Amino acid sequence: MRRGNIFSAATDILDLDTFTMYHELIPSALSSVRPRCREYLFLHHPTCLFALETTTLYSMSSLEICVRCRHRAIGPGEIHGLVGSSVAVPRSDLEMLQALELDFSVAVSQRVSTPSILLGIARFLNHDCNPNAQLVRVTRQSWIVKATRSIAVGEEITVDYGNHYFGIDNHECACASCSHTRAAY
Ligand SMILES: [Zn+2]
Repeated sequence: MRRGNIFSAATDILDLDTFTMYHELIPSALSSVRPRCREYLFLHHPTCLFALETTTLYSMSSLEICVRCRHRAIGPGEIHGLVGSSVAVPRSDLEMLQALELDFSVAVSQRVSTPSILLGIARFLNHDCNPNAQLVRVTRQSWIVKATRSIAVGEEITVDYGNHYFGIDNHECACASCSHTRAAY
């Protein structure tokens, strides 16, 4: 990455043979891949305040990805660079994802009832019943993330998936807040 220039780095990467092959096959793909490429490159930028890491908090048998605060604490407000894009999923594709048990990132809006999948770094945000951040929709497709309180270095950045994502009243939730509550009994 030349002097922290995300734009030129994304251009350099997408000019690699691996990607030019896809440009030729699907010319329209480049316009949607370029922003995603920049988003992921930003993870390596010195000013990026978060990192993708692994966690064993949510599963005894497998590592899961989480988004964690790094370098310095994050204050309340928009977390620069932590973004997502929702993309509509055709019903036929949804059935395929459900058959493969890959539909965990698919959400159905109560307003438009169209299934959509969240792409980008924000898709790695895990749920907590007492979250420190929230997803905020800024356009039909794009989302930003706002910290709702200060987030300490090393702390996982979490959002609220809703009241019944992990069973009725999130009874099966394995988030840190639920673990602490159960440990207190
Ligand atoms: Zn919970």
